[in-house]
Amino acid sequence: PTFEYAPAPESRAVLDLASSYGLFINGEFTPSTGGASFKTVSPATEEVLAEVSEASEADVEAAVAAARTAYTRVWSRMSGADRGKYLFRIARILQERAREFAVLESLDNGKPIRESRDVDIPLAAAHFFYHAGWADKLDWAGLGADPQPYGVVGQVIPWNFPLLMLSWKIAPALATGNTVVLKPAETTPLTALLFAEVCQQADLPPGVVNIITGAGATGQALVGHGDVDKVAFTGSTAVGKAIARTIAGTRKKATLELGGKAANIVFDDAPLDQAVEGIVNGIFFNQGHVCCAGSRLLVQESVAEEVQERLKARLSTLRVGDPLDKNTDVGAINSRAQLDKITELAAVGEAEGAQRWSPECELPSKGFWFAPTVFTGVSQTHRIAQEEIFGPVLSVLTFRTPGEAVAKANNTPYGLSAGIWTDKGSRILWMADQLKAGVVWANTFNKFDPTSPFGGYKESGYGREGGRHGLQGYVRTGA
Ligand code: NAD
Repeated sequence: PTFEYAPAPESRAVLDLASSYGLFINGEFTPSTGGASFKTVSPATEEVLAEVSEASEADVEAAVAAARTAYTRVWSRMSGADRGKYLFRIARILQERAREFAVLESLDNGKPIRESRDVDIPLAAAHFFYHAGWADKLDWAGLGADPQPYGVVGQVIPWNFPLLMLSWKIAPALATGNTVVLKPAETTPLTALLFAEVCQQADLPPGVVNIITGAGATGQALVGHGDVDKVAFTGSTAVGKAIARTIAGTRKKATLELGGKAANIVFDDAPLDQAVEGIVNGIFFNQGHVCCAGSRLLVQESVAEEVQERLKARLSTLRVGDPLDKNTDVGAINSRAQLDKITELAAVGEAEGAQRWSPECELPSKGFWFAPTVFTGVSQTHRIAQEEIFGPVLSVLTFRTPGEAVAKANNTPYGLSAGIWTDKGSRILWMADQLKAGVVWANTFNKFDPTSPFGGYKESGYGREGGRHGLQGYVRTGA
């Protein structure tokens, strides 16, 4: 490889809104073959941001073919050290263009700029840096005998962390020598398309990364394509199960990162101010559009009243509004469909007898908004204690003993994450062992790092992303 840096293109993506975007196939932007397109809107204002091409089956075919050719002719023949250089360059360009990405992410997704600027984009770059380092050290990653890439990977991602989910998917796939066709969610395609520009800028060989935009049908065509060797999906449990059915009986491998209903467990010996911050971060970060959100607060009975009081006082200080305002704590709900789902489940919570509370806050008249909401008096059988709401809604339950906390925490179909707040180290270790959750945080919540594996138990899916373990999903061993 030559490793020529292309100059940064004229920045058209962020400010030149309402323009149209093609698919990224074989290193070029191209309109969809049928000419179909869809609009992506700002959830904060309902303004149209851009017109995006909708990939047809023929486009999926072209993207998979480009990925196959790039795999066979270029990427599988390249040394790990050279693949790593490309990943390092992508990481650096993401850092250089971080502001542009952060603004575009907040516009398209509705999340506060403080989060996209300080969390999403830096973590996406960190993910590429981390995997760049692995590309020439795979022999030392403990992946088993003779690890080989699968070939062409089909990847489908959700809308809650668009660029970050893309980097969780693309970085390990490329580091291990696979090529990729990725479909972003239909409500948040823009940072994936800006990422395609980064691939051009990094001089990545054409076809190594292909981005096709479209709705569920495009994702279905991708995961069902006969020349895709491996499927990596992040999204809802319902679609994950549909994908598992689609690929059953084929040679394809899959990793599925699905929903969650995490318990955030507060004991009476916890530093309560810190715990309240952790509860707020756990469920109101990214408007609760987080698979591992601490959506169930389990609080020990002896401190339940005090925690609820402190929580309400803290929530009254949250600023809900314009995602592009640096002072905003809680932004817009990503889509009308998601807003309807949250509204419906919150109504169910009331109908089932839980007490609903929200701080006073003035919501903008346009766009999709939902005030931070807390339900107290929730019992385990309530739907708001069992179903993923994927919004800024917290269900509060109480417990008396550690054993009861474990039983309640594990009593959902999911098992993605959990949080424990206590002063006792021995209790942390015991609880972490008992909780059926892929990630357990102690005296913190929503901490992410590319070196740590992330993934679920039960209906939260299978496979891990991040860390050495995440590489395992992209290689076959002992071939
Ligand atoms: P979703 O399942 O509706 O959509 C996810 C993606 O799948 C989108 O790109 C969509 O277009 C595509 N899709 C829809 N139907 C498809 C089909 N039949 N075949 C192939 N692709 C299809 O989920 P969503 O609403 O975008 O995201 C929210 C869900 O994602 C939540 O349940 C959340 O918990 C989960 N999530 C999980 C993780 C994790 O790491 N476990 C991370 C983020 C989000």
